[in-house]
Amino acid sequence: MSAPVWKVLSIPLKDGEGKLEILVQQWKKPDKTKLKLIRLNSELLITHSCFGLMKFIEVSKDKNILHCVVCSLRISLPSSIKTLGELEEYLLNA
Ligand SMILES: [Zn+2]
Repeated sequence: MSAPVWKVLSIPLKDGEGKLEILVQQWKKPDKTKLKLIRLNSELLITHSCFGLMKFIEVSKDKNILHCVVCSLRISLPSSIKTLGELEEYLLNA
């Protein structure tokens, strides 16, 4: 039996590109006050609204990419973005 998956964050994207959903798999109900501090890494489950999985790829020391395996949407992120809170803020202000 594996731990339940919790949907912790939904971030709308600009230009009709849908939205991202961040999922966390763990036994305990995620603590809402700590969600924004969750670090972005390749273990995190991020889905796109096309139902594709978004892969987090470290491209260089300055840049990371979120890439949807289904529709090939690519979102470029400065590597200064380390947490879910920073990701949300960056995408909402992009
Ligand atoms: Zn997609």
